[in-house]
Amino acid sequence: MTKVGVFPGSFDPFTKGHECIVEKALGLFDEVVIAIGQNTSKNYLFPLEKRKAHIESLFADNGQVRVEVFTGLTVKFCESIGAKYIVRGLRDSKDFGYERSIAQMNQEISGIESVFFMTVPEYTAINSTIVREIHKSGGSMELFVTNADLLV
Ligand code: ADP
Repeated sequence: MTKVGVFPGSFDPFTKGHECIVEKALGLFDEVVIAIGQNTSKNYLFPLEKRKAHIESLFADNGQVRVEVFTGLTVKFCESIGAKYIVRGLRDSKDFGYERSIAQMNQEISGIESVFFMTVPEYTAINSTIVREIHKSGGSMELFVTNADLLV
C-alpha cells in the first residue's frame, strides 16, 4: 500500500524551510502531496497559480511529489485522496505549541495522524511572513526561496 503524506500550508511563498521538510518527508512516505490551502477570507501576496507553478518546478524531477490546491478542512482533503498522514514542519517551541493543538484536534475528528519534522538549524529563522516583507520592500528573496524569480 502506498504511504501518502500531505504537507499542507499557504506557502506564500514556499521557502527553503518548506523544501527541507518535503525532502525529509520523502524518507518516510512513498508520496508527498504538497497541498496549498486556499482560504477565501485570507489575502495572499503571491497569486495561487504562481505559488503552485513555483512549487511544481522545484520538484519537477521527482515523481514522488505532487502539488494540489484545496479549500476547507485539511483532514477532509486527506480523506478525499486516501491519505492518513499530515506532514508539518517545526522550527521552535512556538511552532510546537500551535501545531500540537491542530494535530490533536485533527486526530480527534478524523483519526488522521500528524508527523513532524524538525527543520535544519540554518533554516530555523526562515519565515514566509518575513520573506513577504522583504519582497514588499524591494529586497531579494533568493537567500530564502529557491528559484524565487518564478514568483515575480
Ligand atoms: P500555514 O499557513 O499552514 O502555517 P505555512 O506555509 O506558513 O502554512 O507553513 C506550512 C508548514 O511549514 C508549517 O508546518 C510550518 O511550521 C512549516 N514551516 C514554515 N517555515 C518553516 C521553516 N523555515 N522550516 C521548517 N518548517 C517550516
